[in-house]
Amino acid sequence: MITRKDFIKKTSLIAASGLLFPSLLRANKESKPTKRAPNTNKSPLVIATWDNRKATEAAMAKMKETGNSLDAVEAGAWVPEADPNDTSVGYGGFPDRDGMVTLDACIMDKDGNAGSVTFLQHIMHPISVARKVMEKTPHVMLSGDGALQFALAQGFKKENLLTDNAKKAWEEWKVKNNYTPIGEKNHDTIGILAIDDKNNISGACTTSGWAFKMHGRVGDSPIIGAGMYVDNEIGGACATGLGEFVMKTLGSFLIVELMRNGRTPQEAVEEAIHRIVKKYDYKNMQVGYLAINKQGDHGAYSINKGFTYALHQNGENNKIDSDSYIK
Ligand code: ASP
Repeated sequence: MITRKDFIKKTSLIAASGLLFPSLLRANKESKPTKRAPNTNKSPLVIATWDNRKATEAAMAKMKETGNSLDAVEAGAWVPEADPNDTSVGYGGFPDRDGMVTLDACIMDKDGNAGSVTFLQHIMHPISVARKVMEKTPHVMLSGDGALQFALAQGFKKENLLTDNAKKAWEEWKVKNNYTPIGEKNHDTIGILAIDDKNNISGACTTSGWAFKMHGRVGDSPIIGAGMYVDNEIGGACATGLGEFVMKTLGSFLIVELMRNGRTPQEAVEEAIHRIVKKYDYKNMQVGYLAINKQGDHGAYSINKGFTYALHQNGENNKIDSDSYIK
């Protein structure tokens, strides 16, 4: 007769061999962080969504000056934020449906510190306000009037960010008054990731969001883990495109966790896009992801064709076409 004691002994032996609960064993194995030796040949590097080569250039120059990837991603983000011709970021960004330019941004450093602003108006460089939130407050995220009040107290200048061009586009839109989601075109949100000489990773993301969005709408870009995420032990990821998809799947955090469990950056970004297309009506929508790991490898993938990115590595600053789910 098998006693209860024998049974427990037997099943625990089988379980230990992985026969009874192979998936448990697999899960355990997968959740162990892989030890990775940094490959200094591939850093420093800067990568950014879209053809933001001016931003990657500025970021690399800053990194040479201060040696710090955090300064680099902030300096990179400043470029589209101050560009009146960039209609998706900062100054010149298209307003919401009430004609107001509202900005979202977030930043993360090598130690896992994070800062973010959402629904911020009148400030040219929301990324720097996000950095101040990270460095000067006990909070991670400030929003709306509170974020503006904080920015002004920190010495930022109140400015009109609605350019004549953006106002004209909004007035034309009002005539049609159609609330089509951002779709596969017209994205410029910058997500930017950098690795410095000490092999430390930082990331930033900044946007004026979905053009002519509902007043009060906040997208993925300022949400830590959605629009951007960094874990200095593993790597970083950032997103552009329809923020609602990215938020619902917590894309950037997912990508970093997939890399932690052994996926390459390319495998991780592809899986994050698959999570979207499995669940949602994605056909005319665009989401693009970038990822880097601690060794300086990168990955890029999007739902639709047309996603590009800028990569500054090994002394070259290139625009690269991303692979996509829909070919
Ligand atoms: N991800 C941004 C947002 O949803 C928009 C974009 O990348 O175009 O606010």
